[in-house]
Amino acid sequence: METLRSKIIDLLLDREMSVSEICRVLELEPGREREVYSILFSLPKILKRKGLALLMHPPQCLSCGFELSKADAKRCPRCKSQRLTEARFVIK
Ligand SMILES: [Zn+2]
Repeated sequence: METLRSKIIDLLLDREMSVSEICRVLELEPGREREVYSILFSLPKILKRKGLALLMHPPQCLSCGFELSKADAKRCPRCKSQRLTEARFVIK
């Protein structure tokens, strides 16, 4: 049986997606976003062996434009706004 991790790898190969898009495509309940993030954070080591890398377009604050380094951040460290864009991931 294909694991959730290998499904996520297949999805992200040369296609940029956010975690909520991954959940929608794989028909996961929104409550499983945490799980998807933890799988994503475990990918770089596995991908490195295949000569691939996980790239992230970081989330950005919609209020002040600050670019966040933490993929699953919930609020802006600069202005405390919770209006953030979602991080997007792609495997290259
Ligand atoms: Zn901000």
